[in-house]
Amino acid sequence: MTQLPIVAAPRARVQAMKEYHPPLGSRDALRLDFNENTLECSPKVREALKQISAGSLTRYPEREPVEAIVAAHLSLKPEQVALTNGVDEAIHVLFEAFLDAGDELLLPVPTYTMYEVYASATDARVLTVQAGDDLEFPFERLLAAITPQTKVIAIANPNSPSGSAATRAQLLELAQRAPHAVLLVDEAYYHFHGETVMDLVGTVPNLIVARTFSKAYGLAGLRLGLLAGTQELMRWIRRVLSPYSVNSIALACLPSALKDTAYLDWYVSEVLAARTDFEAALDVARVRRWPSRANFILVDIGAKHAEFVRLMRASGVLVRDRSSDPGCDGRVRITIGTREQMKHAAVALNTTLAALRVGGDAQ
Ligand code: PMP
Repeated sequence: MTQLPIVAAPRARVQAMKEYHPPLGSRDALRLDFNENTLECSPKVREALKQISAGSLTRYPEREPVEAIVAAHLSLKPEQVALTNGVDEAIHVLFEAFLDAGDELLLPVPTYTMYEVYASATDARVLTVQAGDDLEFPFERLLAAITPQTKVIAIANPNSPSGSAATRAQLLELAQRAPHAVLLVDEAYYHFHGETVMDLVGTVPNLIVARTFSKAYGLAGLRLGLLAGTQELMRWIRRVLSPYSVNSIALACLPSALKDTAYLDWYVSEVLAARTDFEAALDVARVRRWPSRANFILVDIGAKHAEFVRLMRASGVLVRDRSSDPGCDGRVRITIGTREQMKHAAVALNTTLAALRVGGDAQ
C-alpha cells in the first residue's frame, strides 16, 4: 500500500515561489521608502470615514454603485471598470485570468516587483527585457521580444524604480504589434506624470489600464485600485475577481477622494515642486540621478548603498535600497514628499554622504 503524505503539498509552482516581505517594520520616520503619499489623505475622506456606521459594517460591500461613479469620472462605461483591492490584486487577477502554460509575460526590467511574483504563481514563462544604463523604456527591444506566445505585456508607466516613461505612441505600437496579447499599462503614478492612455480604453481592443489610490490620493491603507478595459476583457477579469475584495470602508471613501480634486492638485503640485528642489540638492551633492516622471527619484550611491540606507534611517529618513533590482546595483530609490519634508531629507542626505564620503568622487 502506498504511503499517504502527512501534509498536503501545494502546487509545484507555489513550492518554487519566494516569499515576498516588503520592509514595512518600524516606519515611524519620514517615509520616503514606499512611494506613498507622505502626509495624509483628503479631509473629505476623513469626513466620509466619520459617517460610516457600525450597522453598515454588517453588510457585504456593494461595489457596483461605486464602480459606476469611478467609470463616470474616467469617462468610461461601468462595464469597462473593475475596482480591486489595490493594483496588486488587479495584477494578480489579470495574470490568473490570462496566463496559461506555454504563455509568455513580457516585462521591461527593472520594474515593479509584483509582476514577477504573481507570474511565478502561474504556469507562464516570464521574458524580461533589460533597460540600458539610462533606464529609459527599452521600446525597440521590447517590440523585438514579442512572440506568438506573448500573452501579457506589463508596462508600469511611469516605471518604478527608474521613474522613466513610455510615450503614448510607443504604447499604441506595442498594443498593435501584439494583438494576441493583453497590454497592461499600470498608471500607478499617473498623477505625477500627467500623461495617460485611459482615453484609449475601449478603442484599443487589447489595452487594460490600471490605476491606484495608494499614491497621490494617500489611501494605501484602504487598498483601492482599478482596472479599465474593453467590456469583453473586463468580463473575463470579473470571473476571477472576488465580488467582495474591495471592502465597504474603501467603497464609502472613494467618491469623496475622487471629488476632492483641489486636494489632489495641491498634493501633486507640492510633490513636483519638491522634486525639482531635491534634484537640485542631489546635483549639488554630485549624486547621479535618473530623470523621474513620478514621486520618487532613483540615485546611484555605489558600493555603500546598504550603509547609506542605514544612516539615512538613523537620521529619521526611510529610503529604499533597490540594489537587487536587475541592473540597479548600488542604487537607492527616494520618494518625494512635500517641500518641507524634502528639505529635511536633503540635510539627512548631505550628512549621510559626508559620513560615507560617497558624494562627488565616489560616483
Ligand atoms: N504598480 C506600481 C508600478 C507600483 O509601484 C505599486 C506600488 N508600489 C503598485 C502597482 C501597487 O499599488 P497598490 O497599492 O494599489 O497595490
